[in-house]
This record gives sequence, C-alpha cells and structure tokens, in this order.
Amino acid sequence: MNANLKKRGAWIAGIVAVLALVPVVAGSFTVSLLNDIGIGALVALGLVMLTGVGGATSFGQAAFVGIAAYATAWLTTTQGMSPWIGLLFALLLTGLSALAIGMLTLRLGGHFLPLSTIAWGLSIAMLFGNVDALGRHTGLSNIPALQVAGWSLADPRAMYYLIWVVVGLACLFSHNLLQSRPGRAIRGLRGGATLLASVGADAYRVRLSLFVTAALFAGLAGWLYAHMNRFVSPSPFDVRASIEYLLMAVAGGLGQLAGALVGAALVLVLKNGLQDVLPMLTQRAGQLEAVAFAALFILLLHFARGGVMGLLRRWTHRRGAPQGPSRHEAAPVEPLANRTLPARGSPVLSVNGAVKRFGGLVAVNDVSFDVKAGEIVGLIGPNGAGKSTMFNLLTCTLPMSAGQVRFLEHDIAGLPQRQVARLGLARTFQHVKLRPRMSLLDNVALGAHSRTRSGILKAGLRLDRTEESQILQEAQRQLDRIGLGDRAHELAGSLPLGTQRILEIARALAADPVLLVLDEPAAGLRRKEKMALGDLLRKLREEGVTILIVEHDMDFVMKLVDRLVVMNFGSKLVEGVPSAVRADERVQAAYLGSVV
Ligand code: ADP
Ligand code: MG
Repeated sequence: MNANLKKRGAWIAGIVAVLALVPVVAGSFTVSLLNDIGIGALVALGLVMLTGVGGATSFGQAAFVGIAAYATAWLTTTQGMSPWIGLLFALLLTGLSALAIGMLTLRLGGHFLPLSTIAWGLSIAMLFGNVDALGRHTGLSNIPALQVAGWSLADPRAMYYLIWVVVGLACLFSHNLLQSRPGRAIRGLRGGATLLASVGADAYRVRLSLFVTAALFAGLAGWLYAHMNRFVSPSPFDVRASIEYLLMAVAGGLGQLAGALVGAALVLVLKNGLQDVLPMLTQRAGQLEAVAFAALFILLLHFARGGVMGLLRRWTHRRGAPQGPSRHEAAPVEPLANRTLPARGSPVLSVNGAVKRFGGLVAVNDVSFDVKAGEIVGLIGPNGAGKSTMFNLLTCTLPMSAGQVRFLEHDIAGLPQRQVARLGLARTFQHVKLRPRMSLLDNVALGAHSRTRSGILKAGLRLDRTEESQILQEAQRQLDRIGLGDRAHELAGSLPLGTQRILEIARALAADPVLLVLDEPAAGLRRKEKMALGDLLRKLREEGVTILIVEHDMDFVMKLVDRLVVMNFGSKLVEGVPSAVRADERVQAAYLGSVV
C-alpha cells in the first residue's frame, strides 16, 4: 500500500507540475482548450460519482451547468453584483433545482429515471431560450471577468489557474468522499435499497444527496464557464451537451475519478480534431460530428466498457499490481459507543399471530413465538414452509397482513426496515448482498452506518477523520472476530460464496446489534467452515448477542441452538428444545425423506 501511495503521489505531483507549466509554454489555443477540458472534467466528475459509482444515469447534467451560468450572468449583468455573490447564488439555485428535480424523479426506478432526466434537460434549456430577462436565444453578454484580490482573470491564462485549482479541489473532495461513511453508502447504492436499509441507511436520501452533489459540481463548472466566456446562450446547455458530458465520463471510465479528466480531454481534443478535419471532407460537418461521436459511444460500449481508465487498469493488473499488507493498521482510537444489551432472559423479540398472504396463498399463517436475550433460536422447516417469509416479516422487509411483532420495547410491524435496523436488529441475506468491488473492510464498515453521523460535506473536507478511524477500527475488529482479519483489503467478490456469508455476519456485527437474524448462514459452507461458524455463533451468544437463525442444515442447527421453532405449510408445527423436536413424530412426518 505504501509503495502504491508513493507511486500515486509521484504521478499526481508530476501532473500538477506539467499543468502548472502549460500556460507558460503553450499557445493561447492550447490554453483555451485546457480551460474547456477543466470545465468539462468538473461536470464529468459529478457524473462519474452519480452514474459510475451511484448507478443513476443522468442525461440532463448540462441543464445544471446552465442554471448556474445563467444565474451568475443575470446577477452580475442586470443587477451589477459581484461574481462572488454570483457564485453563491449560482450554487444555491443549482442545489435547490437539483433537490426539487431529484425529489420528483429519484424514486422512479428502471428506465424512468434516465428518461425523466432527458425531459428536464430539454425543458430547462427551452426555458433559457424563452425568458426575456435571460435574453431569449441571444443570451446575456458583457458578463464581468473574475477578480481575485485585485487581479483580473480576464486573460484565459489567468482563468486557467483558477479552473484547474477548482478541478483539483473537486477531485480531492470526491476522493475523500468515496473513502468515508457517506461514500460507502453511495458505493452501496448499486447493491439495492434493501442492502442499505439493512444497515440503517435510506437509499433514497443517499441517492438524493449524491444527485445534489453532482449537480453542484456542474454548477461550479457553469459559474466558471460564464465568467470565462463572458457570454451565455442556451445551446451549450441543451441535451446534446448533456450527452457529451456523459460521453466524457463513459470514455474516461466510470469506475475511477481520473476517468473524468481523461474523458474530458479525450472528447474535447477529438471534437476539436473533427472540427478541423470534417469541413475538408464535407459541407455538413456539424452533422457528421454527431455521427462520429455516436460511433465512438458504440465502440466504447462494445470494447471498453470501463473506458480508458478501465483499459489502463486492466493493463497494470496484468503486469501484477503490487499487493500491500492486508490488515487495516492504524493507531488505536476510542472505540465506537456500544449499546447496552438487555439482561439475559429478558424478552427481545415477540411475534404474535403473524400472517402473510400473497394473493390467495397464505405463506405465514398465525405464527407466534418469542426470543429471549442471550438465546440462539432456530427457525426450521421443509422447503416452502414459510421461513424466509417469516424472516422478512420480522425484519420488516415485507409488510405483514396481520399480527404484531415486538422488538425490545417497540412495536415494529409497519416500520420501515431501516428504522428496525437502527433499533439494533441486524440481518444477513440468504442471497448474499455484498459489494463485490469493495474491500472486505469497506463492506464491514458499511455495517456501522447507523452508529455514525458524518455527511457528504464533512467527509469531502476530511473533517470526519476521527469518526472514520473509529469505523475502520471497528470493521477490522469484526473481521478479526470472524477470522478474516488478515484479508481486510481484498475485494469481497474474490471470496468463495460460503465465506461471503460469514462476511455478512461481520457486517451485521458492525452495527452492534441486540438481535442477529441469519438466513441460512451455513449454506455453501464446508464441514470445517460450518464448525467454525458454530463456534463463532456460540461465542457471540456468550458475549450476550441474541441470535435467530433460519436454517436448512438440521445437523448444524441441532447442535447449536437452545430452542427450535418448526414451521410447516406456513404454520408453527412445534416449538421446543432440540432433543424434543427431534423426537416429535409430527416433525419427522413433515421432514419425511430427509434425515432429522
Ligand atoms: P421457505 O423459506 O421456508 O422455503 P418461503 O417463505 O420462501 O419458504 O415461501 C413460503 C411460500 O410462500 C412458498 O409457497 C412460496 O412460493 C411463497 N412465496 C414466497 N414469497 C412469495 C412472493 N413474494 N410472492 C408469492 N408467493 C411467495
Ligand atoms: Mg427460504
């Protein structure tokens, strides 16, 4: 890791040095091109985060650039205000528009979100062209140049430094953000709302805050654009421009922040090249340019989905990227605060008359049972008995048709899943929900979401470092607890499926739960791994964690649990200690053919 960091530091220092020298040696054409690239990169950076990391595609990002550009243009030309007040106004307006648009559209699933982004992109650009105060299609001109401490930035060479300092800071902000509590939630978005809810996070709010952040990056770009060109008109902010920004992000690589820089450079250099070459070939250069870009898009999607950075990464990996130490090592910090666990034997969970109907099918039919603090209770039954459905009812993943569930002193039936998680009920999934491209450490750290508070601004500005150290220390501790402590920096996707289930337990433990509910944790484990899992669960019981386990493997359950609840055809069949359940004729009949 250290060698890696040094190498990366050297690269960044080199790039900064070259960028700083450019205006001294290059001609004004190159400087203007680099200014455009910087502004494009800023927008694309937001898109890498929104689309690449968060999984929400926006075809309307240029509209946010436009809102900011017009906001500062209007304020500085018609109202005679300072461009710095223009900056505040531009960001405020962009942020509020993004908030409003996001609230209207981000709940839309599937293809509806990208479609609605096209709609707002079109309508905002149309608005610019039709409002008298914004100069209609002629736009607004005579926008003042920026002044920094008495220095005019009217010269593109001066503007160049401001633009690239802003781009650098935005990259730093984004980098910090991704390595933080809110960043992990953002990276978790692609895992689905249920995954985030299971750690107490609200996927909609995470997506909304990411959307506003990406829009603010675009807004910053718009402000720079307006004071660089000193003139705004509607066309640079239409849907065509939005697609160009998206193309930058895709071409550079949606997987990495640097993709935004590389992509912006690639697209704008290519565009300039085409504008030089195409007119020699045809009279209709404008249309051909669009065709050339469409072709580039299709080629990329076919051959290099990861963009230029994706190709580079594959290439360096083939050469064998250096492997660092795999533990998270850091100076010890004060641990995160723990919940007080209820006294052994006091009621933790109480299910009363639970019913779940799917249309005509009654999957869970009037089931009642209790779980007391410090117990391991097994929920078993043949396939289709309704165990998973019961599991979803008591974690509030599915709404109940009738009945009550009490968890500690709360009636939780009908609460959103994330609130139940926050009360101290942590779960794992029968179909593993990990983020395969995140490290083991990050996956487990995601579990501590509800115990911590830092938001996007704090994380981006690195004001969250104390809490972040606490989170990572906690994640490492949980990894040690499950025996994967020496693989903290490996990717979760590289683990075998059985081990991924165990990793989910560590993530659940990072939430410091009162009750741990596990759906078939032993599935896919080998015998030795099952024994280790059994030992782990017994150890947790000793530490006071209460466990409810839904399991198929009878042998495994019988040796582990204090009590069993057996379900069959949606109803509770018997309840009791393992030996009594094993001897019960009804259970044997229900499991006929399988070994009990
Ligand atoms: P188990 O986990 O014990 O194998 P499940 O709870 O998955 O059983 O399923 C119980 C019954 O409910 C099955 O008959 C199953 O087909 C049905 N079922 C489960 N989920 C749904 C659903 N979302 N829609 C309709 N039927 C369902
Ligand atoms: Mg099941």
